[in-house]
Amino acid sequence: MEITAKLKKISLGNWMLIGMILGFIVGLILNFYVKNPFIKDTILVNNLFYLGGTGFIKLMKMLVVPLVFFSIVVGVASISDIKKIGAIGGRAIVIYLITTALAVIVALLIASAIQPGVGLNMAGIAKANVTSNVTVTDTILNMIPDNPFSSLANGDMLAVIIFGVLVGIILATLREETNVVNDFFTQGNRIMMEMTRIVMKFAPIGIFCLMAKTFASLGFEGLIPLAKYIGCVLIGLAVQAFVVYPSLMVLFTRLNPIRFFKKFFSVMFFAFSSSTSNATIPLNLEKLSELGVSREISSFTIPLGATINMDGTAIMQGCAVMFAAQAYGIDLGMTALLTVIFTAVMASIGTAGVPSVGLITLNMVFSSVGLPVDAIGIIMGIDHVLDMFRTAVNVTGDAICTLIVSFKNKAIDLDMFNGKKTPKETWDDITRF
Ligand code: ASP
Repeated sequence: MEITAKLKKISLGNWMLIGMILGFIVGLILNFYVKNPFIKDTILVNNLFYLGGTGFIKLMKMLVVPLVFFSIVVGVASISDIKKIGAIGGRAIVIYLITTALAVIVALLIASAIQPGVGLNMAGIAKANVTSNVTVTDTILNMIPDNPFSSLANGDMLAVIIFGVLVGIILATLREETNVVNDFFTQGNRIMMEMTRIVMKFAPIGIFCLMAKTFASLGFEGLIPLAKYIGCVLIGLAVQAFVVYPSLMVLFTRLNPIRFFKKFFSVMFFAFSSSTSNATIPLNLEKLSELGVSREISSFTIPLGATINMDGTAIMQGCAVMFAAQAYGIDLGMTALLTVIFTAVMASIGTAGVPSVGLITLNMVFSSVGLPVDAIGIIMGIDHVLDMFRTAVNVTGDAICTLIVSFKNKAIDLDMFNGKKTPKETWDDITRF
């Protein structure tokens, strides 16, 4: 009785943390101590954990397109002033670009200090088999949907955002004439929020399975020769998350970063375990609402950020460029470094918020400064682990920018942020077991 009562008091965020730690431990135990391939691989990794982990990611993905579409339309329609929408979008895009450029600079500085590629023998490198067909012009053109319904069906996020914003603006202009459609979107949005809450109840189990599966099958031998490179990326990510973001937050909003991170950690855990910013959108929106951020802003800037803002990915790309240049003994001059900053920012726009795409767009960055893309082959094997960490930073960047934009537009409830007022329904209350 005592125990059940205590368990009931644990919030969803903490359950997610518990799931993550347990999954990590179980995965390591399986990796090191369970040698029977039938039990380890056939029953657990390839079936049970695969089912629980992939099943949960699929549930989250199922929410993304309708949730994003409904909430963008409702969010934009409630901002009656069209100029304000332009200002919010413009501000968000500028902040996204600046934070990504800062991220690449952080990576380049750290990698020049640590020199992860020096002394590496580049003979006999596995040929990289990653091809990129993402160009900047294509990314811009892809924002305009040929057919909005097929964009919705295919989950082309930028096209969905653009179309959602247009519908929202027109609803706001026509007002009375479109009351029925307005109600339809408002109620659709409510339904998707409710569905998100239900799906999120399974998050701790999903996270447990994802972590156990990853760590049960992870080859640790591959990590050692690349320890310096891995170290560089992790330090870069930590600096971005815990130095750059809090500094920007204090500079532009004077809000307390510790309060933010306390609430936000569960979003980072989820992004970490799933390696996908896109599937993290619903949880990110919920947590920001609990921090007092108006959905008017977040419903628009979070999906946008999950699509175009990848600071963690940019850090990996910056480190990878330096790593390869050092390994091949190529001296990158100032012009080449500036080119890297520019192309990594563009690659971040072109990187979709799904696992491992950052490695594909890395091609574009390597080619821009004439580095042999074969070097990508060396880091490919260990990229999965780094993908987890960088996705956690990617989603944090989206949230920090959203916080700044909301603050500048007076669209954040400061009492709620500071814990003086609790939201009508808190996420944790609803989802307590
Ligand atoms: N997995 C990353 C994300 O979803 C993208 C990447 O860097 O591969 O944010």
